[in-house]
Amino acid sequence: MLKIINELNDRKIAFKTGLGGKELSAFRGGGKAAFTAYPESVKALKDLCGIASAYEIEPFPFGLGSNVLILDGGFDGIMVSTVGLRRIELDGTTLTLSSGVPMTKIAEIAAKYELSGAEELCGIPATIGGMLKTNAGAFGKEIAEIVAEATVCDTKTGNISVLKGNEVPFSYRSSGDAFRDKIIIYVKLKLCRGKNVGAKAEYFRNMRREYQPSLPSLGCTFKRTEEGISAGYYIDKSGLKGTRIGKAEISSKHAGFIVNRGGANASDYVKLMALASDAVRRKYGIELTPEIEIIGKENDPGESER
Ligand SMILES: Cc1cc2nc3c(=O)[nH]c(=O)nc-3n(C[C@H](O)[C@H](O)[C@H](O)COP(=O)(O)OP(=O)(O)OC[C@H]3O[C@@H](n4cnc5c(N)ncnc54)[C@H](O)[C@@H]3O)c2cc1C
Repeated sequence: MLKIINELNDRKIAFKTGLGGKELSAFRGGGKAAFTAYPESVKALKDLCGIASAYEIEPFPFGLGSNVLILDGGFDGIMVSTVGLRRIELDGTTLTLSSGVPMTKIAEIAAKYELSGAEELCGIPATIGGMLKTNAGAFGKEIAEIVAEATVCDTKTGNISVLKGNEVPFSYRSSGDAFRDKIIIYVKLKLCRGKNVGAKAEYFRNMRREYQPSLPSLGCTFKRTEEGISAGYYIDKSGLKGTRIGKAEISSKHAGFIVNRGGANASDYVKLMALASDAVRRKYGIELTPEIEIIGKENDPGESER
């Protein structure tokens, strides 16, 4: 651990030790990460990949952590925050963004310059890097539809390459293996000239406020089913709205969300996921697929006795 700390200090990469789900995940609960690094340049990102490779620790890039749950036993690798990567360039209708640029900023620019194409996505609490990896979507629109290209850094070799949008095997809430062992550095979005872009984005944001709970969550826990029906519909019909385990709850506003009522840990979340999956399987014979990503390890059950 000390060697890694020295390497990070030598390369002037800001980092913290011991941050946890409370700070790193939008669920505001979960285990701690050994390291959280904050690279602010491509060079720092490459250096970080080199350190991770040399010490055989896993780098996990993340944006707002709005789709990531860290299990209570913690994550032994390096969480690589992209919040310091915020470059923005506009050339005609092409927007080039560093991966840490949040959707709120993209919405602001799109409204200011009347650039259309992302209005439906404006309320997603995400960075552009996270959106690309998860192929985020809303109201019938997916980020895949407006991506021209992505520049990535290979975490094992430090090599930088460019992927065209049509080379990424995007599907519903997935970018396939395109970004496995990669950190997205830049994303180029191809927008078009529009009208009343800000008003349209506001319309979609308002719709979201009406149906989504306001307590901390990771958005929809499960993907839509194969027939395109929201998992929340089946969870609701299984009578689970409002069910609590510890301080986590299947939201009584939208059964697709598991919310943190204050002080929930990751195991509360995971137990509710299992409860919902079992209930929907028993009642409807449908297998739910998680939309959220779970990392880290479970608490060692013997730990509390030591
Ligand atoms: C209230 C709420 C509402 C939501 N609504 C929606 C919705 O309408 N539609 C939807 O699709 N999702 C929704 N989500 C889920 C979430 O916002 C998306 O999955 C989003 O794309 C995650 O973005 P992020 O920047 O927070 O990524 P994170 O959650 O930090 O990371 C998600 C994944 O992306 C990877 N990643 C992040 N940055 C990079 C990078 N630079 N390079 C490589 N990989 C990277 C991570 O390793 C991880 O695998 C919602 C979540 C919440 C909390």
